[in-house]
Amino acid sequence: MNIILFGPPGAGKGTQASALCEAYSMPQVATGDIFRAHLKNNTELGQLARGYMNNGQLVPDEVVWKLVESRLSEPDCAGGVLLDGFPRTVNQAELMLGWFKSTGRELNRVLALIVPDEELVVRLAGRRTCLDCQATYHVQNNPPAVEGVCDRCGSTRVVQREDDSEETVRLRIATYHRETSPVLAFFKEQGLASEVEGLGEISDVAARLRQALQG
Ligand code: ADP
Ligand code: ADP
Ligand code: ZN
Repeated sequence: MNIILFGPPGAGKGTQASALCEAYSMPQVATGDIFRAHLKNNTELGQLARGYMNNGQLVPDEVVWKLVESRLSEPDCAGGVLLDGFPRTVNQAELMLGWFKSTGRELNRVLALIVPDEELVVRLAGRRTCLDCQATYHVQNNPPAVEGVCDRCGSTRVVQREDDSEETVRLRIATYHRETSPVLAFFKEQGLASEVEGLGEISDVAARLRQALQG
């Protein structure tokens, strides 16, 4: 099964992706996580991506697609994958659908989390991210069991992402409306999108997502 978990920055994609991937035993491919790994290792790709990410802009389609295509071609993705944070432009969506077709794969569903902008700002302002495994927390809504320590990997490097500053958050939300929200319309036209209410308890949102996949 190939699934896209879609939504604006802060909608809860990363939070929900882990549980979904476990439930359906499929790998999670999160383009933002891949870019941050490159940033951390200071690769050429990381140096290129940094400028876009810290200005709330999208990394160019050709760069993103090259990365996603090579990741999807790895053996563990052959039986299906959950994409988180990709596609973010209609062009990326078209490149992906063309590739799925040419490799005999199918996009089964796009799960779109719907969350209003005011809530996104609150969520991103309080988000903390583990530098070592990319797990995310929220200072009020979803803190780790021990303050500053990652529940998943035990790391003590749970910090605010550079691009979660208030100014960059505003830019990222604007970028979402301008360049990424048309992707939802594109998938709706094809009858592939399920819109899921993203407000409420994390466990309630998870239940809605599972229901949307089954229905
Ligand atoms: P995304 O991957 O879509 O950018 P995250 O999963 O990182 O979003 O979630 C953004 C922030 O909101 C995190 O701090 C996370 O802990 C918090 N969060 C996620 N889901 C909910 C929810 N249902 N209610 C309140 N806060 C949430
Ligand atoms: P969020 O959790 O807030 O949705 P991500 O971690 O998915 O953010 O992405 C962080 C940044 O990485 C984006 O703001 C963008 O600069 C870049 N990025 C991630 N995925 C893509 C993509 N599919 N296309 C272009 N840029 C991307
Ligand atoms: Zn961690």
